[in-house]
Amino acid sequence: MRPFTYAAPATVTEAIDALVASGPGAKLLAGGTNLYDLMRLEVETPPAVVDIHRLAELTIIDATGPTELVFGSGARMADVAEDPTVKSDYPALSESLWRAASQQLRNMATLGGNLLQRTRCGYFRGGAPYACNKREPGSGCDARGGIDTGHAVLGVSDACIATYPGDFAVALIAFDALIDVAGPGGERTMALADLHLEPGDTPHREHTLDADELILRIRVPLTPAGRGSTYLKIRPRESYAFALASAAAALALDGDGTVDDCRIALGGVATRPWRALAAEASLIGGPLTEQAARRAGEIAFAGARPGRHNAFKIELGIRTVGDALRIAARRAAG
Ligand code: SF4
Repeated sequence: MRPFTYAAPATVTEAIDALVASGPGAKLLAGGTNLYDLMRLEVETPPAVVDIHRLAELTIIDATGPTELVFGSGARMADVAEDPTVKSDYPALSESLWRAASQQLRNMATLGGNLLQRTRCGYFRGGAPYACNKREPGSGCDARGGIDTGHAVLGVSDACIATYPGDFAVALIAFDALIDVAGPGGERTMALADLHLEPGDTPHREHTLDADELILRIRVPLTPAGRGSTYLKIRPRESYAFALASAAAALALDGDGTVDDCRIALGGVATRPWRALAAEASLIGGPLTEQAARRAGEIAFAGARPGRHNAFKIELGIRTVGDALRIAARRAAG
């Protein structure tokens, strides 16, 4: 691990000041479950680390408000996953958290860090001699034409096909979540859907935050579709594994079973959390039949671009969407 300076600010304002004073390359440390790992591998070599894990103002969990759920960026994954209201009224959010990582990691990892976790692409984490445009811009991409079994089929570019590895962000974008961000110029609010970037020609740029900004909180507007939701994650083993394909689905049905509201987002198959808006639209106003669920999955993957070894993700993803919709429909019918 390379040497770095360390600061432990007592407030958010001090943390932003520390980021500004530290200059380019400084990193925020929260749960540490991703950053330490990458620093040990020397994939991340920040000259300065700003430790925000003790900032109590970032740890709020409030699921009692009249219009929205509010989660501080420093709240622990395990605490939000186990919140009684989140479990009963937004099971997709709870499931996306407790199906991620291990209990020990969920006890440490924060929501903000989870949103911004970096890809598990082996060529990215492996360092030299592998070519990786994300780690070293312009060097190439050894995953293309290489071992791409776990890589993305949606949102890929010639420069990068790395999968966004998170689960929680996938469930959050299905619910139109917002994030509040603080920086030297004050606070701003943005849709979570605008946080993560597709790789394009610049895969080293993964999100739209400035280097001296931090996420304060996540806000989820209340919706009747929350109770009729699920996060279905398909992975090589049933714990402590990243998704080969996942789907967050949320439905609200009227009295005769017609779909009034539908949300579908995909994980494990795309370069960023992936909302399937056309698939959602195909279901609104009709019954959720087997054929309709299958068709929605096919629409969600219509633009897929598989590589050498990951074409299986298309059929797997289509079936995952269908299964998630059926679970959501049972819950929505309640
Ligand atoms: Fe790097 Fe992306 Fe290629 Fe992986 S897929 S080697 S992260 S450029």
